[in-house]
Amino acid sequence: MPHTTPLKLYNSLTRKTEVFHPVHKGQAKVYSCGPTVYNYPHIGNMRAYVFADTLGRTLSLKGYALTHVINITDVGHLTDDADAGEDKLEKAAAASTQSIWDIAKHYTEAYWADIAALNIREPAHWSIATDYVPQMIEFAETIAAQHCYELDSGLYFDVSSIDQYGSLARHKTDDLEGRIDSVDGKRQPQDFAIWRKTPPGEKRQMEWDSPWGKGAPGWHLECSVMSEKLLGLPFDIHTGGIDHREIHHPNEIAQNQAFCGAGGHACGSGANIWMHNNFLIDRTGKMSKSSGEFLRLPLLIEKGVHPLAYRLMCLQAHYRSELEFSWDNLAAALTRLKRLVLGAQKLKEHEDERDISHPLILQAKADFEAAMSDDLNTPKALITVEQVIAMKRVCDGDRYRLVMQMDEVLGLDLLHLDREDLRIRPADAQLTEEEVLARMMERQAARDERDFERSDRIRDELTDAGIELMDGDPLGWEWKLSL
Ligand code: AMP
Ligand code: ZN
Repeated sequence: MPHTTPLKLYNSLTRKTEVFHPVHKGQAKVYSCGPTVYNYPHIGNMRAYVFADTLGRTLSLKGYALTHVINITDVGHLTDDADAGEDKLEKAAAASTQSIWDIAKHYTEAYWADIAALNIREPAHWSIATDYVPQMIEFAETIAAQHCYELDSGLYFDVSSIDQYGSLARHKTDDLEGRIDSVDGKRQPQDFAIWRKTPPGEKRQMEWDSPWGKGAPGWHLECSVMSEKLLGLPFDIHTGGIDHREIHHPNEIAQNQAFCGAGGHACGSGANIWMHNNFLIDRTGKMSKSSGEFLRLPLLIEKGVHPLAYRLMCLQAHYRSELEFSWDNLAAALTRLKRLVLGAQKLKEHEDERDISHPLILQAKADFEAAMSDDLNTPKALITVEQVIAMKRVCDGDRYRLVMQMDEVLGLDLLHLDREDLRIRPADAQLTEEEVLARMMERQAARDERDFERSDRIRDELTDAGIELMDGDPLGWEWKLSL
């Protein structure tokens, strides 16, 4: 694709949309805060990775060599993002017969399965926090003298030791004070533990020796260290959900500033651009893992929804807008995906046709790229794909090639999926596909005999079994599953 429009991204740090200038020419280095693996990811969490993947794919479209890191937090994340509560994994292990390591492995694998189902590209590195503990201790030692103080409970970062702590956050720091449990001896409520000591007489499943005694690293420290080790400071873009804009990322920035200052070089905030996706919400509010009941991707699949319909649902909204989940929205996304797949398939039949590029194709290419370059305007980009599929007077081969290129960026797998893949049998399906087709033939026979009472009865029975008939559907779908 011609790389004409400069890539512009919204930077939460400067609160402006900025032209992307990489730290290293031709390269893009991106770090995304990954899951805390004490429970299954919910579909809201997965929105964060669909967003990071869309960003990565757009950087590739723009010709940058991408290095993407996603971490796996298997230690250190407390039940409150601020400095209070228990370690989420230690808490999950206490309630389980499994070891903490097995719990982390189980939920990491579940997360990876969701990543694959959503056609999210593998990052260059999955960095696992517990693999980096010696480097975390080393990092903490570098900043301890100038920026930290020791208490009985751990080593704390003094936020007054750096300039403009918390400038990323939208809430005033004072607003947060009420939320932050005070630890005896903390100099400021916002100070946070970068090393938490194991209390005397206790034994944790995950603990390491350190200059501050046996214990475990703080969650914020992990991300600073792994991004520094794998990408170098400063790197280009750091992503996460908007909850991270308030505590986790300001604390990472504070550590990065301290670390670079100690090394005698300026690295700003560690990453030049900080990007945050908004929440997936439902009618009750933000979806969260700690609330117990939550929606997981496998549940959507069990109900007969292809996971890429959820990806499409995410792309239908801009990543900075809140997105409300409802089964109706999901069903609408599935219908839209079916139309896209069907349209793309028809073009594929003529994939060998060649033509000089038609001006309409060149224009659509440019429109698509302009939409993605405008802070990842996926809703607009999707419309361009549909326009290309619907174009008249342009040869199918040309349109096929363009749809293929656009799908490289959107990741909907339009050219490999087929109609049958999109009809997933729900786990609790009452009728087999053959039974549905047999009932439909009976209904058609009743209609031919003008026995409308019988044909309506069959329709009602099918509706009760979760099958919606689609008489006269323009794309020829005869039935669909009602959600
Ligand atoms: P966690 O596993 O809780 O650390 O969260 C993983 C990622 O999901 C983080 O980037 C969070 O900011 C993000 N996240 C959490 N809840 C939601 C939600 N309801 N919608 C979108 N992103 C979320
Ligand atoms: Zn992080």
